[in-house]
Amino acid sequence: MSDFRRPHEAVDYRALTTRLPPPPEYLSSAYLDDPETIAAKQLDRLRARARTAYEVPFFRRRWDAAGVGPDDIDSIEDLHRFPAYTVDDIRQSIEAHPPYGDYQGVTVDQALEQPMRVYMSGGTTGASRPTLYTAWDREAGAILMARALHMQGIQPGDVVINAWAYSTHNGAHAMDEALYRWLNCVVLTTGTGNVTPTRKQIELAVQYRAKAILTTGDYLLHLADTAREMGLDPKTDLQLTALPNIGDKQRLHDTFGLPVYDSYGFHEVQWVAIECPAGGGMHIFEDAFVVQIVDVETGEPLPDGEQGAICITEIYKTGSPQFRYNIMDLSTLLPAGQCACGSWLRKMAPFAGRGDNMVKLRGVNIWPEALGEIVTGVDGVTDDYFVRATREGNRDEMTVLVASDRPPAEFETVAAAAAERLHQVVGVRIGVEVVAPGALDSLTGFGTVAKLVRFEDARDR
Ligand SMILES: [Zn+2]
Repeated sequence: MSDFRRPHEAVDYRALTTRLPPPPEYLSSAYLDDPETIAAKQLDRLRARARTAYEVPFFRRRWDAAGVGPDDIDSIEDLHRFPAYTVDDIRQSIEAHPPYGDYQGVTVDQALEQPMRVYMSGGTTGASRPTLYTAWDREAGAILMARALHMQGIQPGDVVINAWAYSTHNGAHAMDEALYRWLNCVVLTTGTGNVTPTRKQIELAVQYRAKAILTTGDYLLHLADTAREMGLDPKTDLQLTALPNIGDKQRLHDTFGLPVYDSYGFHEVQWVAIECPAGGGMHIFEDAFVVQIVDVETGEPLPDGEQGAICITEIYKTGSPQFRYNIMDLSTLLPAGQCACGSWLRKMAPFAGRGDNMVKLRGVNIWPEALGEIVTGVDGVTDDYFVRATREGNRDEMTVLVASDRPPAEFETVAAAAAERLHQVVGVRIGVEVVAPGALDSLTGFGTVAKLVRFEDARDR
């Protein structure tokens, strides 16, 4: 039992906070690094990460096959020589080595000397995809998340409601750790509307003077509607001071009178980038990540300013690596330069859709998210939509389902207007079906999932 280390013994906190300063001191330290310092930290950490990633069978196998190794990194550009991988490669790894795959940097047998957590993504269809996090990875990830939450307006010591689902998914737990361990926030762990009814969530927010309610932007707007039904004003009775919610920025701003900042992250790596008050893209936490943008189909690097898939390498972990993970989310790297806020950290454009959701409709590349943006701007259509791709004979078709708050007698008119707008913007005919508000919830997962499902590819049925 001599190697039995408790979590607080497994992390050198001085080393951790020197390497990754937590908020608020982050904003007066690493956030303002000059370009040379940023580049030097990245290269140093990338080389160290490559050495530990090479010890993991999944990466060793792929790198050996490509003829590259951890000693081949002389500059950040050399990262492009390393093979990227996608979620399909992760799925195959799990199939061959259930249930953990061979891409983890630690095994559960090491839990006594290396305390760890496991969280999962996916799982509604197919196998869950687990990620093992060491104690260092949990704390480092929580610091990154705390930075993002603080930059979105949460102050140390605030009372905050966490209305995300505490589940096998990392999200709610990671936010909880960020708030409690790095911002000293007092967290009300309400969970989703299934756990704590919507009206109860509002009562708690008012009684405990919560400064933020962490959940999807959609659910927060639903909370605002419910508050109004209860005779409360979302702006003055709720007294929120931060909106760390992803959703319709304009509507969130109008409803609560607070700024909304874009942010980007996903569960294996936690928070990657966050918009600053100067706007115009999200600053990447470059002391923890190298973000590349690659062509969706070929994987080739794309020049700054061109949209492609996000290929991410984390340079802060000690356990399961994400080293050139092509996450297939679409974004753009903006040209380098100093931001009006003073930071030199590279900026990326907000999430622009899923690269693997693309449907080729009569020769035109179409992303479901883009259709959603078009139809939700049509008169009589709410912000809710769902896109389905089908095959009719040997021809691909797409249908957009939208919700309307107009009387059902007007649905046909709304559908015609939405279809006309789609035809004007996209150039091909796309069907529109109009349904009542709430009728899409079972398709989108509203109220139960972290990221709403907006697309179903039913072409193979
Ligand atoms: Zn900035």
